[in-house]
Amino acid sequence: GRAPAGAWFAPGRVNLIGEHTDYNDGFVLPFALPHRTVVAAAPASGSRTTVSSAQEADVVEFRAAAVVPGDVPGWAGYVAGMFWALREAGHPVPEVDIVLDSDVPVGAGLSSSAALECAVGVALADLAGVVVGPSPLAVLARRAENDFVGAPTGGMDQMASMHGRPERLVFLDTRDDTIELTPFPLAEHGLTLLVIDSRAPHAHADGRYGERRADCAAAAAALGVRALRDATPDAVAALPDERIRRRARHIVTENDRVRDVVALLAGGSDPRTIGPALDASHASMRDDFEITVPHVDVAAEVAREAGAHGSRMTGGGFGGCVIALCDDADVPAVRGAVEKAYADRGWSAPVTFGAAPSEGAGRLA
Ligand code: ADP
Ligand code: MG
Repeated sequence: GRAPAGAWFAPGRVNLIGEHTDYNDGFVLPFALPHRTVVAAAPASGSRTTVSSAQEADVVEFRAAAVVPGDVPGWAGYVAGMFWALREAGHPVPEVDIVLDSDVPVGAGLSSSAALECAVGVALADLAGVVVGPSPLAVLARRAENDFVGAPTGGMDQMASMHGRPERLVFLDTRDDTIELTPFPLAEHGLTLLVIDSRAPHAHADGRYGERRADCAAAAAALGVRALRDATPDAVAALPDERIRRRARHIVTENDRVRDVVALLAGGSDPRTIGPALDASHASMRDDFEITVPHVDVAAEVAREAGAHGSRMTGGGFGGCVIALCDDADVPAVRGAVEKAYADRGWSAPVTFGAAPSEGAGRLA
């Protein structure tokens, strides 16, 4: 109903490689999507903060100056959590009216939650006139998700949303939150990274995520290391429990694959050379970590058979998206083959789009 004081955005992300490594002090390699959440904000017209989303019907109200965990359930918790986290860190938080919209697919593993938190975070910092760097803001956004919403996630999503750059991957060491931007020149090499949203129903994803975390913690304890990042392949091979051994093997080999991919790309190799690492990552998630489901296995396999240089599930698993590295000319064939494979099985059609590394959170012009 009135002009905003400004508009700010933050993107979703795709993880190129490095799955479930983030809570094992390991390595991840995400990039920021062109898909974004946009927040328009202005000083509140009343005494309370109001939030509305084009994706939700309700308008949610709370007091920025007082909101604490437990006060705001549902989707607006991601927003209120950002106010709370900034306030907890000692920053001033104004009462504002917020209207937001997003083209990040929600609940598809592309991190609409981090996009929402980070977009609100940059808006609030700017409106309050405080400078919070991208990494500290990412840490606060993670706090909003972990301690306000109550979702026990790692910090990859927020770091990718804050630090993304065109043609760059965000190589993140989750032990100390240091990042290195790694080149990923798709267009120059005639390549498309196809994202295939399987639309598979997410069955019990939260509980199984917790089980995997517990297995990794058990493996680290059995090996006497601080985290699986510190485990050697030989020590893992000697673990007596068969399941725990496979879980640990995924983490150790996945960390190596992330570093191999970074070495190839940082060394200027053709991005096609990372294909085998993508394939191996998928096999490891399917066989050792057991976090894939038929929808994503079929998409990854069929994409490969139809010409992709490499393909893997991306995200926490039990559904979500597959990425396939394709020559531009092969995109229609890969997309068509996956659509046909889904139709043949009576599954609803996947949603596919090409994604290139894009700009991280900031103010819109
Ligand atoms: P993902 O981050 O993979 O999309 P999550 O379950 O982590 O999935 O986060 C999705 C939740 O974030 C939604 O259920 C909703 O509560 C909130 N959310 C994300 N984007 C929006 C939006 N544009 N409007 C309102 N709520 C949103
Ligand atoms: Mg999320």
